[in-house]
Order: sequence, then C-alpha cells, then structure tokens
Amino acid sequence: MGAPPTTDFSPFPKPAQQPAPARGLDAIAARGTGNVGRLQEVPAEVLQERSQSALAVLREAVDAGPAAFSTSLGAEDMVLLDLIRSHGLDIAIFTLDTGRLHEETYRVLQRAEARYGRCIEVRMPDPQAVRALVAAQGINGFYESVAQRQACCVVRKLQPLKQALAGRRAWVTGQRAAQSVTRAGLLPREPQGPGEPEKFNPLHDWSEAEVWAYLRAHDVPWNELHERFFPSIGCAPCTRPVTLGEDIRAGRWWWESAQTRECGLHAPPSAAPAQRPVAAQAAEPPSQPLHQTP
Ligand code: SF4
Repeated sequence: MGAPPTTDFSPFPKPAQQPAPARGLDAIAARGTGNVGRLQEVPAEVLQERSQSALAVLREAVDAGPAAFSTSLGAEDMVLLDLIRSHGLDIAIFTLDTGRLHEETYRVLQRAEARYGRCIEVRMPDPQAVRALVAAQGINGFYESVAQRQACCVVRKLQPLKQALAGRRAWVTGQRAAQSVTRAGLLPREPQGPGEPEKFNPLHDWSEAEVWAYLRAHDVPWNELHERFFPSIGCAPCTRPVTLGEDIRAGRWWWESAQTRECGLHAPPSAAPAQRPVAAQAAEPPSQPLHQTP
C-alpha cells in the first residue's frame, strides 16, 4: 500500500524549495527545529532539575484544581503528557480536533494512546457553528482577513476549549516564553479574569533543547512534522515550516503580523477583542461579521 495522500492548502513554497527533509531525532538535534540552529546537549542533572521544576508547577495546578491540560500534541505538550501520566497526576487531558489538523497529528495521537492509554479526550467544534462559519466566509476564508481567521479560531478552537474548561480552576499549558514575541515574559502561573481557570505553564522557562532532551531521555513519541521544520504545529492550512533563524512560531498564520499570531487561546487580557481570554471571547459571537475585512 502506498503512502497516504497529503493535503496542502498552503501557498507557502513546496517542500522541494525547503531544506532537504531529514528524519529522526538526529536531524532535529543537528539543526534544531526553529531559531536555535544546532540544539545544545543538556546535561542529565540539568534535565532532572528542569523536570522537577515543571513537576512542582503541575502539582500546584493539581492543588488548585480541578485541573485540565489542553494538549496540541506538539513537542512541549508531549513532555507534559509524559510528566502527568508517569507521575499519576490528577489532571484531565484533552485535545482540540478542529477538523483541519495534519494527518501526522492524528498519527501522534494514536501513538500517544498506545503509550499512555486512551487518556486524551478529543473535543470537536459544534457542527452547526462550523456550517455557519463556512457558509459565511467560505471553506478557507481565514486567509482573507485577520477578523475571518479569528472567527474560524473562535468556532473551531475557542468555543470547544471553553466547553472543555468549564468547571476547571486550573488550566495547564505547554507555553514557553522563548517561543515568540507574544510569549516573552511568560510566568509559571497566570491568573485570569473572574470565573476563568488560572493558567499554569510548567515549561515557561524551558529551552527548545531541553524539550528535545526530555523527549529523547524518556523515549516519548512526537509529531513527525517536527522533523520537517515545523517547530509549532496547528491546523494544516495555517501552519508552514520555518527556516533557520525564524521565530519558532513564524510558521503559524505566517501571512499576518507577528503581533496577531495567536488564536486567542493564550492572548493577554489587554489584547484586542477577538484575542481576549478564552472564556470572555468564546462566550460571545465574533464582534464583527464573519465576512468583514478590517
Ligand atoms: S488555525 Fe486556521 S483552520 Fe485552525 S481554527 Fe484557526 S483559522 Fe481555523
């Protein structure tokens, strides 16, 4: 049986114009997956200390719970999945299937289920809301304006996220400060607005090298797209590979300015209305008509 067909909605240059693809962790270690170039070796004692530090934040989340962990199945989130499952922490785990994910992401979900059991709840968007969105702005309307892109993220991500976090008091994320300008200054704990769960970021001060050192040391599965210059993986039509020297999240919504490249899941309270924190944002329909161009 041949390889499954791939879906490519991206106007970004095709793989032939990218650096030659390489497979495996050696390839990642040799060149990094984003702006770090060759990944540095991480001494075992440093990795141990970093793991204990992340575990301490996870235990704070348990104490503040009920706690939930939203995983994108990216490298950072696989570290957290391994820490949560291997230490038996009382944290519910879920992922958002937007309906527009890469096939590789479903494959790593399958591998995670094989390794850790079927512990990851898969949340999907409301079919009626998706139908209304597509009717209003077309199947790929997110390319046409920031407002339309944010409207798609609201329907496919933020509203399911809000439902998944209902009743939770602690929300564990795999964010790292070094990932992008929008995440600089990230703290291990981030109180949110009234009625919203406090955010816990156990890997807030981890480096990309430390993430990969952990995955290697614990033989944790990862998304094979990371081996093809995808350091940050979201929906297939909204994620492209990056080149060396680019910001790790430069491949997310790359047609927009760096300041708008968040889906609203992790936007600061001061952000524009469509990027407000999830509970406030997903509770209401987009403030602009879906077809409006800003
Ligand atoms: S990342 Fe793209 S496809 Fe996914 S929800 Fe946001 S706009 Fe829609």
